[in-house]
Amino acid sequence: MVRKLTATAALLLVSCAPQTQVPTKVRALVLSSNGEYTPTEVELKTVTDIVALEGKVARIEGNAILRLDPTDPELQAARTEEALARAMTKSAGRSVTASYITDPQGVLWPADFHTWNLVTTYYNLERAWDYFTTTLAVPQAELPQTTVHYFPEFILADVSDQPLTDNALYYPPLKSFVVLPFDTLQKAPLATNASILTHEYAHLVFNRRVYGGSAVPTALNEWAQGGSSTPGLNVLKALDEGLADYHAYVASCPTAFGCNTRVLATSFDDAAVNARDLSLNQCMSALLYRNITQSSVNVISGLEYQLGTLLANALYRSTSTEAERQTLGRALVAAYSDTNTSRPGFNQLVSASIGDQNLFTLPKAAKAIVQHIPSGNVDLRQKVCTNFANALQIPLSALVGNTEYDCPASTTTTGECPALPRDP
Ligand SMILES: [Zn+2]
Repeated sequence: MVRKLTATAALLLVSCAPQTQVPTKVRALVLSSNGEYTPTEVELKTVTDIVALEGKVARIEGNAILRLDPTDPELQAARTEEALARAMTKSAGRSVTASYITDPQGVLWPADFHTWNLVTTYYNLERAWDYFTTTLAVPQAELPQTTVHYFPEFILADVSDQPLTDNALYYPPLKSFVVLPFDTLQKAPLATNASILTHEYAHLVFNRRVYGGSAVPTALNEWAQGGSSTPGLNVLKALDEGLADYHAYVASCPTAFGCNTRVLATSFDDAAVNARDLSLNQCMSALLYRNITQSSVNVISGLEYQLGTLLANALYRSTSTEAERQTLGRALVAAYSDTNTSRPGFNQLVSASIGDQNLFTLPKAAKAIVQHIPSGNVDLRQKVCTNFANALQIPLSALVGNTEYDCPASTTTTGECPALPRDP
């Protein structure tokens, strides 16, 4: 088979190789205050090799061949995570070679399109890493250097024999980010979009904490066997998607553009962007409630995003200051895993429900979030409790408790959302 040549071949052209200084001043494509991507001077604080775009946060590899084919004997024989990754990696690729022009002030300007895209990818990942490690205080040791497969040939054989395009994702089986080549997407490249890369980085953090970093999480695997009714899987996937959008929103607030509630903006069409706009107030509908509790994300396309956006909106409505947004962001990552049995995290709730996914419910996950808001944040907890009871239609009895971490007994619903008919 003749390998399809991708545009990454251009990366192999060698040009001047500047010395790497820390921090490195470089131009990247950054969303300006007027909503346009503008070549902007930024500092890369963690890069150790500016030509290969490698540093503490990421290591970018070009031209890999990655293939997940259930009929592949090598894959079938894989018994460990390492063997699975080896079986999927048909060619590991190689370092990229970025090319720059140095301006009189010593700032590096990308000299070709791929260098713009690569520098911006590293910059966006570094900002996402900084959000989780600095703003949310996730220890750096939990978020070590991650490989980014840039413009690989990426084939999921049970979907299509053609390489995938037009996407950027965190891919747990390889514990890597994958930035795919463009094909039909005419808007801003996904890796240029800081909100999308923060959303993907949030998936990495969720995977590490909720699934212990597993390449193939047991809960996802087991619960998918539920066929047309997968209530636990639905909630788990919705948490992963909705909280990733909420983190992307919180992380965007200190940028030049400001708080971005439209995570997909600039990269997707208006209908898709609006459907995920977490500032649009929503209520749990009878149909959504029925779909979550009785159907499956594997049957209803996008179900995890519908519930995820509803959850992100409830969190959005609960915060009005930067301090509250950050406190809630920290509460979320704390709720991902907590071995304290009086307020277990998602990880522990999921582990206790592996044999029966009906036990992992939205009220339990919501309670875990509430219980990880620090005890002094009375107003914030009150707002989250009210919005969970109101917009998510979680029964107050599932949220109220008598510790300083629970929703107070005085919690009321606003009546903004009509009550759902409940099963007797
Ligand atoms: Zn996602």
